[in-house]
Amino acid sequence: MDYKKILKEHTFKTWSKQKGWEPIIVTQARGVYFYDNNGKRYLDFSSQFVNVNLGYGNEKVINAIKEQLETLQYINPSFGAEIRAKAAEALLQVMPKTISKFFFSTSGTEANEAAVKISRFYKKPSYKILARYRSYHGSTEASISLTGDYRRWFVEPNTMNGVVRIPEPYCFRCPLKLKYPDCNIACANYVDYIIKQEKNVAAVIVEPITGTNGVIVPPKEYMPLLRQIAKENDILFIADEVMTGWGRTGEWFAVNIWGIEPDILTTAKGASASYVPIGITGVSKEIGEFFEDNIFAHGHTFEAHPVSLAAIPAVIEEYKRLNLLSHVKAMGEYLGKRLNDLKDRHISVGDIRGVGLFWAIELIKDSKKTPFGDYEDKYNGKLTLVDILAKKLLEKGVYVYNGPSWFIISPPLIINKEEIDQGVDAIEEVLKDADKEFLK
Ligand code: PMP
Repeated sequence: MDYKKILKEHTFKTWSKQKGWEPIIVTQARGVYFYDNNGKRYLDFSSQFVNVNLGYGNEKVINAIKEQLETLQYINPSFGAEIRAKAAEALLQVMPKTISKFFFSTSGTEANEAAVKISRFYKKPSYKILARYRSYHGSTEASISLTGDYRRWFVEPNTMNGVVRIPEPYCFRCPLKLKYPDCNIACANYVDYIIKQEKNVAAVIVEPITGTNGVIVPPKEYMPLLRQIAKENDILFIADEVMTGWGRTGEWFAVNIWGIEPDILTTAKGASASYVPIGITGVSKEIGEFFEDNIFAHGHTFEAHPVSLAAIPAVIEEYKRLNLLSHVKAMGEYLGKRLNDLKDRHISVGDIRGVGLFWAIELIKDSKKTPFGDYEDKYNGKLTLVDILAKKLLEKGVYVYNGPSWFIISPPLIINKEEIDQGVDAIEEVLKDADKEFLK
């Protein structure tokens, strides 16, 4: 069978033009490596899209899923599968303590879609949702409308109404042209003004650490301040932990870094470590109680799918058994140090930022911090130098997820030092090409 031909002609390539797609045919994976049909091995240095948190081939998780498949593979969500109670019980032990009720779907997109609906039902007649420019929240109507990056351009002007943009805490390129700490966290304080001017604001949604758009770690004051502003203005605070949750930062959830508690927490990816599709919308007790007498007009056939739910307690057990939170902290320190060393040696490295096993290398092509490309390039189907370097890395057997001018380094949480060295060494090799461009 000509796999490549069938894939190209009969399946969709998403997020870029179909033309020119040359898929690598992947056949198997183990640990932190995956293999193509020629037997070539690739180090997964980004956990794919920051989601394969436990690596590949974890037998405990696979067995829990198999067992569920063999006992009850499906029941419609108006019944109460035992595994649904077990999953909720397991989640209550690791989620921020404000979160007490869960809606289960099958993706981060759906988790956010539900969060929007819940916020609007609960805060009616308020309906506006604040979201940042540099953000990604999903690909369907509501979640792509919340998304601030270039992807929303494809659907504008037909996006959901009521989305109001707020600035991001992106100190390397401050949208307000200020400097931390003299800025007095103006990007958060400005949100108070926006809420008061807009009125009818139901909620604010943020990725605690912006993910796809370049692992933007906010200054330490930002999240507690934003949380407080939401509370004072009586709007809901939604933490989109689709990417930042599940040990990625060395905490169960990134909000734990600042000790803040959201009203709604959405998550997916690491919740099943990507052994099965899952999306979770967790809400506070107050919000949960509202729906005692109000209908949550929402749901899917595959909502609370038993096989997806079976992964949750098993994955939580594995995070604990493997002591992954401490492992991430230790490996994160090592990875961070190795990446920061790159900054000293490579003129094209503009910024290194991250926490735990969640890092970005942002590349610049001159001393004015000009990026190697923008989302505009992707929109127009052009490859940036960073796209080209990512392809080179693949040739070297290292997969790294990249944006137009940055790499996202987010390996499976089980990674060890030798594997980290393999990934960083390969990146260091290709950075020489970026340096040459800088010096031109
Ligand atoms: N929110 C964030 C922060 C994400 O990173 C993503 C996926 N990259 C999503 C939502 C959407 O999740 P999914 O792709 O599972 O629909």
